Parts: sequence; structure tokens; C-alpha cells
Amino acid sequence: MIGCDCEVCRSPDPRDQRLRSSIYLQTPECSFVVDTGTDFRTQALRENIRSVGAVVFTHSHTDHIMGFDDLRRFSHARGSMPVYASAETMRDLKRVYEFAFKASNSIPYYLKPEPHVIEGPFQLGSTIVTPLPVPHGDSIVNGYLFSRAGAKLVAYLSDCSAVPDAIVDLIGGVKVLIIDALRDKPHPTHLSVGQALEAAARIKPGETYFTHICHDLSQAAESRLPRHTHIAYDGLQLRL
Ligand SMILES: [Zn+2]
Ligand SMILES: [Zn+2]
Ligand SMILES: [Zn+2]
Repeated sequence: MIGCDCEVCRSPDPRDQRLRSSIYLQTPECSFVVDTGTDFRTQALRENIRSVGAVVFTHSHTDHIMGFDDLRRFSHARGSMPVYASAETMRDLKRVYEFAFKASNSIPYYLKPEPHVIEGPFQLGSTIVTPLPVPHGDSIVNGYLFSRAGAKLVAYLSDCSAVPDAIVDLIGGVKVLIIDALRDKPHPTHLSVGQALEAAARIKPGETYFTHICHDLSQAAESRLPRHTHIAYDGLQLRL
């Protein structure tokens, strides 16, 4: 948090220094990123990302789209960048990044988005990506379930304020649940730690990782969480 001297902001644990939420998935066929937030460039440099074959957006809040422009590096390598988003999010992307979506965008090396409006589950390589519409305050945003060969591998719900029963049915028993847990205190647009634990108890994943954490919650708080429940940190890698 800018200008904050709280215990977490001054913590010597490097895992307490957090950039915006995002995940990068590598599969044998292709690699793709979910959201390109304000810190996308910093994250791509830190992790030495060499290939992005597609981008999937959860919603158009600034902490999830403001790194879009930096996809130019990966777009140029493959000629265009497949962009998957809901109709509403795509509309916002086209407004904010009008110059990139314009047909007249013919600048070499610049980002050439190839828009795909999400209507239902879609495939990236052999990975089935199922949109999970969830409330995020007053709006509905997409989480995603990533499945391969019939196995539910990862459910990503980075921004949500509730998990409806229909979504619990879709992702029940998923291997890894990555879920919003902003802080202990309730918040109008994000799950609290207590609410995230309740949601996880209904979903029954193999492992749960909290994300989109604010500076009210330290990495050390993991010690008071139930078994198989973790606080995710920047740079965390999971092999599935
Ligand atoms: Zn702070
Ligand atoms: Zn949001
Ligand atoms: Zn967010």
C-alpha cells in the first residue's frame, strides 16, 4: 500500500510484498495468462516469460487490464494475440485500448488483439476453460475452471463476493482452488477469509490458495488456516 507503515507493508518476509493478482498457465501445447494487470510487465520480466499464446480476462477493473499493452511483445512473435473475455469486458477493452483494436492498426511490433467473446466453455490447446460467472459486488465477473483429460485441475476465482451453488457444483472436488480472500474484515466486493473458508468447505478442493490479498493479511497468517489451505504469494509455482 502506497505510504503505509503497517506491519505487513514493512514485513521482512518478501512474500508480503504483493503485486496485482494474475496467473500464468503452461501446458504441453501452449501457455496463456489470466489477466494482465498494472504489474504485468514487471511480473513477466521477473518470471522470464517467453511466450503468451492467449490472454483470458476475468473482468475489466484496472488492476486486471492495465498491462494489456505490454502483450505487444508476445503478439508480435505470433502475429496476433487471441483475447478471451465476456461481452462486457471486451467492450471495455475496446474502449480503453481503442487504438489496438482498430482495423487501421498496422504498426509493426504493436499489439494486434484477436477478440473472442466468451459464450461458454472453450479450448486452449487440450485445456478446457469453463467460465464461472460470480458476483463481485454489484457486477458479475468471470472466474475460470481449467480441466484437462476430464480432470478438474484449477478453479480461479480472483475477484468475487459470493460463490453461488451452481458454481460450487461445477468446480466441486477441483484439485486446486485459487480464491479471493481479501482480509479478515468483510468487504462489499471481495470475500473475507471467513467467507473464503466457507466457500472452500462447500467446494472441497484438494488444496486451497488465497489470492487478491490486501495488506491487512500477512503471509504468517497461514499458520492459523486449516490444513490444505495456503496464502498464495507472488512467484508461487504449482505443478499439476
Ligand atoms: Zn500497509
Ligand atoms: Zn475487481
Ligand atoms: Zn481485482
